[in-house]
Amino acid sequence: MRVVILGGGYGGLVCALRLARRAGGQVAITLVSEKEHFVERIRLHEWAAGHKPVQQSLKAMVADTGITFKQGRVTQIDPQGEVLVGQERLPFDRLVVALGSQADTRSVPGIREHAFTLEPASAAQLASMLPGLAARGGRVVVVGGGLTGIESATEFAEAYPGLKVSLLSSSGLGKDFQETGRKHLLACLDRLRITQEQGRVKQIHANAIELADRTVPFDVCLWTGGFTVPALLRESGLPVNERGQVLVDPFLHVIGHKNILAVGDAAMMVDPPSAMDMGCKTALPMGAHAAENLARIIRGEPEQRLDYVHSVFCTSLGRKDGIIQFFRKDGSMVPWVVTGRPAAWIKEFICRSTLLAPQLERVDVSGTVWRKKSQPTSSLEPSGREILGV
Ligand SMILES: Cc1cc2nc3c(=O)[nH]c(=O)nc-3n(C[C@H](O)[C@H](O)[C@H](O)COP(=O)(O)OP(=O)(O)OC[C@H]3O[C@@H](n4cnc5c(N)ncnc54)[C@H](O)[C@@H]3O)c2cc1C
Repeated sequence: MRVVILGGGYGGLVCALRLARRAGGQVAITLVSEKEHFVERIRLHEWAAGHKPVQQSLKAMVADTGITFKQGRVTQIDPQGEVLVGQERLPFDRLVVALGSQADTRSVPGIREHAFTLEPASAAQLASMLPGLAARGGRVVVVGGGLTGIESATEFAEAYPGLKVSLLSSSGLGKDFQETGRKHLLACLDRLRITQEQGRVKQIHANAIELADRTVPFDVCLWTGGFTVPALLRESGLPVNERGQVLVDPFLHVIGHKNILAVGDAAMMVDPPSAMDMGCKTALPMGAHAAENLARIIRGEPEQRLDYVHSVFCTSLGRKDGIIQFFRKDGSMVPWVVTGRPAAWIKEFICRSTLLAPQLERVDVSGTVWRKKSQPTSSLEPSGREILGV
């Protein structure tokens, strides 16, 4: 069986490594990715704030596993069994789409021309200009009150106390936390002297953001207002939602295409709807599960539904603080949060574990674990074992 995996991010890399472990001799695995390096996307805001990223070569990460790594941009997907990578046609028996997401720069006019995003090139540019801006007491406006916006604003304010940092969101901050978490977040923004702005952005101009009733001036604007998926998937005729995510069933098959699976940010499970948010916390389990199902097909066994349940939001607030919000299996929030240094340590552990997971796969250990709905619930819900799915 020829399996081609598109995208060397969290989902694609773990899928390739798990499949090599489970069915190594019986499958030809090709991992295709545009960049030579694995991009640790969850640390891009840290990079923008001046913490140098650890770059890992994808070729080295899959060395000696039997996986062929092909660096190149996928420009066409023919669902009948072929992808175009640069000038080369790659045939497949099974395809795994793991092309991830990128900052949505089309939702508001002016983002592309006047704002930075958390893409590697833009983060590197921010990293080089923020020290000078901080020395002049310049103003950074982070647009987007989601977790990425909050993590970025706090990271900048902590790293550069000379910067004037504002966080602009269309609604109130902290909806992902219960009351204690929300209070902690607001106290942290206060401590770091981050000002809050509220309003819906109409347009971004050279040095100001236009809202319905006023403008907000900036020296640097960082846009974190949502993510979109490569247009290639829609253009290839695969079924997609309004965001461009490929629709998959619980076995991770693309609806109507038994030979194609999709994982990570590029995929949206339609049964049950919205069961998987975008995040490496979902991309890793989806990648591992897709590999397990491919291995089952090779062994002639029935495929299994992905059994996943959301367990935690881990948010960093700079390097020394954070908020860890746990969830019950029914989706409701646990009425307490971990904050401060312990939260920062947990978040750092989680970030490191996303890189440890592929390393463990290489030494024949399933490094990607997750919480499952079918697991028995403990009385102290959710327990550490349950959250980790072990
Ligand atoms: C600043 C920041 C902080 C985050 N923090 C968290 C967090 O704390 N927790 C969490 O769960 N999630 C977090 N996320 C989200 C997380 O990074 C993504 O959900 C995750 O990267 C998705 O993994 P993926 O494998 O689907 O795609 P990606 O990691 O995006 O990988 C996709 C891969 O496909 C490649 N690719 C794309 N198009 C092509 C093409 N045409 N041809 C060839 N290759 C292509 C890309 O180069 C990339 O290597 C954060 C994101 C950001 C930006």
